Amino acid sequence: MIRVGLTGGIGAGKSTVATTFIDRGAYHVDADRIAREVVEPGTPGLDRLVDAFGSEILGPDGALDRPALAARAFVDDESRALLNSITHPLIGARTQELTDAAPADAIILHDVPLLVEGHMAPFYHLVAVVHTDADVRLRRLVDLRGMDAEDARARITAQATDEQRREVADIWLDNSGTPEELATQARTVWEERLIPLRDNVAAGVPAALPTQVRDYDPDWAVLGRRVVARVWALLGANASAVEHVGPTSVVGGRAAPVIDVEATVADLGVADSVADSLTAGGFPRAESSGPGRLHISADADRPVRVRLRAVGV
Ligand code: ADP
Repeated sequence: MIRVGLTGGIGAGKSTVATTFIDRGAYHVDADRIAREVVEPGTPGLDRLVDAFGSEILGPDGALDRPALAARAFVDDESRALLNSITHPLIGARTQELTDAAPADAIILHDVPLLVEGHMAPFYHLVAVVHTDADVRLRRLVDLRGMDAEDARARITAQATDEQRREVADIWLDNSGTPEELATQARTVWEERLIPLRDNVAAGVPAALPTQVRDYDPDWAVLGRRVVARVWALLGANASAVEHVGPTSVVGGRAAPVIDVEATVADLGVADSVADSLTAGGFPRAESSGPGRLHISADADRPVRVRLRAVGV
């Protein structure tokens, strides 16, 4: 099972990518839908919102009146925090429940508009970002979705920047062409990246690492940060340090494009106890000739070595 986070700014074209993946068998966990479900009439979530913001947030049919809620919850940081403290745990629990129910061989598609804003990137095997320039998105939202231009502009501005999305994007899908061109890119990603990654993770098999030396690539530093965040997310309190090390961490050096990450753990017993989590998280255990324990990425497109070393050894 692998989890793929799909995100992009409002109007970027996430639906085309989601549909392409779902048509090919992705197990869809739809964040927008979950956010609606947890506050449907009759849910504890809606009761709590009414307790917090008053019955004026309900429409005549007893369902949540979103604009009325927004008018009360988005007035200041405290109200916004109160809203989030009610909805986020419910959304999180439901997301976990649906993820746990996925078959062992699933490619889980978690469609999350605010993945970057919520700092969720490290919790996926891969993050796919759909990109369209903001002016094009604005035009599409107004012309095709009938949104008010001011509203669309305000929403675009309130979201993460392209740069922030690029930082977490393992897969960058450009939607400046036709929807069919976007779907073709998504099909290629599905076949050439997601299926092989899923199969390697299921079998606990690392991908082959490239050996050919190349000139320094500034993306190695970005990749290093991303992999470090992912390894931290998998190891949690089991590690006392996680760092990008080795030849690709040296600015200006020539190296084979492999991101080396070193994680410090208390002892090798701890390293062995986290082996299954790392394998399931996309870094299967590999034969180690050096000190400690070695894990290598299951994703051939993102070559990574993770070495777990006992503190002080
Ligand atoms: P998102 O789910 O990322 O908010 P959508 O997939 O709903 O965005 O796309 C926003 C709007 O733009 C929709 O009306 C959609 O049909 C349209 N759209 C998406 N991709 C393209 C494209 N490549 N060319 C023209 N219109 C597009």
